[in-house]
Amino acid sequence: MEEKIIYIAGLGLIGGSMALGIKRAHPNYKILGYNRSSESRDIALERGIIDEATDDFASFAPRADVIILAVPIKQTIAFIKMLAELDLKSNVIITDAGSTKLDIVTAADHYLKGRPVQFVGSHPMAGSHKSGVIASDVTLFENAYYIFTPSEMTQPDTIANLKEVLSGLQARFVEIDPKEHDNVTSQISHFPHIIASSLMEQAGDYAKLHEMTNHFAAGGFRDMTRIAESEPSMWTSILLTNKAAVLNRIEDFKERLDKVASLIEKGDEEGIWSFFDHGRKTRKEMEIHKRGGVDSSYDLFVDVPDEEDVILHILELLRGTSLVNVHINEENREDIHGILQISFKNEKDLKHAQKVITENTSYRVTI
Ligand code: NAD
Repeated sequence: MEEKIIYIAGLGLIGGSMALGIKRAHPNYKILGYNRSSESRDIALERGIIDEATDDFASFAPRADVIILAVPIKQTIAFIKMLAELDLKSNVIITDAGSTKLDIVTAADHYLKGRPVQFVGSHPMAGSHKSGVIASDVTLFENAYYIFTPSEMTQPDTIANLKEVLSGLQARFVEIDPKEHDNVTSQISHFPHIIASSLMEQAGDYAKLHEMTNHFAAGGFRDMTRIAESEPSMWTSILLTNKAAVLNRIEDFKERLDKVASLIEKGDEEGIWSFFDHGRKTRKEMEIHKRGGVDSSYDLFVDVPDEEDVILHILELLRGTSLVNVHINEENREDIHGILQISFKNEKDLKHAQKVITENTSYRVTI
C-alpha cells in the first residue's frame, strides 16, 4: 500500500480523533501534527496519535500529501490563506473540519485559485461535550455523517481519494452544496443550540423568583437543554459564520410561537391538540427514530426497579459491547420504575444487548 504523509493542524478532539481513525486503516501512513500548545503535542506524541509534531504551521505543510485543518473556523481561513503562499506538494489535498462551510469554501476557492492543489470542505458530524486531544476517540465518527462540500477547487477524484484516506473513521460519507449544508445545519443544529441556551437563561432568571424551579426540572427539561453545556467559543463562531440562515430560523420560530400563543389565548382546544399531534407525528417520521439519528447511536431502554446493584448487573452483562452512553431517566415520580437508556454504536451490539438482558433478567427491554 502506498505510504502517504497526512498533516493534521489542530490536535483537539476532532483532529486527534481523525488521526486515530486514519491510523486504524492505514498504520503505514505518517501523521504529522501541528498544535500551538506543547501540552497537546506531547500527549499526541506520547499516545502515538501522531508521529511528529510542530508549533510552526508552515514548516510541515510542504511535506504533506493531505492537509487537514481541524482548528476553529476563523483560524481555518487564516491557514488556507497561508497555504496559498507556501510551496506545497503538487496536487496536495487540503480539507478542513469546520462546522459551517460556506465561508471556508469561499475562502479556499478565492485564495487557492490557480494553485496546483485540491480542496474540499468537510464537516465530520460527530462531537462530544469534551474537547482537546485528551478526548480523542477512534470510534467518534463511526456511523456518523461525514459531509463533503465540493466546490471550484475540488477535482473529480478529490473526494474518492479522501474517502480512502479516511476509511478508518467508518463514517457515512455524503456530499452536499456548502450553502445547503449551512442551511440544513442552521435548522437541526445551530438553532436548537440557541433555543437550549435561551431556555436555560429563562429558567435561571425564573428560578431567582420561584425557588422550586430548579428542583422540579426533570427529564423533559434536561433533554431539551443538554446542549446548553456546549463550548461557547465554538458556538459563537458557528453563529457568526452562518448569520443569514440562523436569523431566518429565528424569525420563522418567532412566528410559530406567536401562532401557539394565539391558539392558547383563543382557547382553541382542537388547534392546540393538532399542534402537538403534528409535532409528535413529524418526530416519529424523522430519521432520529430510524437509526439513532445524528448522534449515530442505537438506543435500548430497560425498565429497572430502584434496587441495589441493578445497573451494575446489567452493565456486567454488556461487557465487550460498543456501549457509548448510559443514561438513567428518573422521572420525578416515585411510583414508577426508572428507565435505563443504553446507547450503542451499532445495531449488532444493540440486538445482542437486547437478547442478553432479556435472557438474564426479568426487566422489560425495548428498542
Ligand atoms: P478543540 O477545542 O478540541 O480543538 C481545537 C484545536 O484548535 C486545538 O488544538 C487548539 O489548540 C487549536 N486552536 C484553537 N485556536 C487556535 C488558533 N487561533 N491558532 C491555532 N490553533 C488554534 O476543538 P474541536 O472540537 O476539535 O474543533 C475543531 C474544529 O472542528 C472546529 O472548526 C469545529 O467547528 C469543528 N467541529 C467540531 C465538532 C465538535 O462537536 N467538537 C464537530 C464537528 C466539527
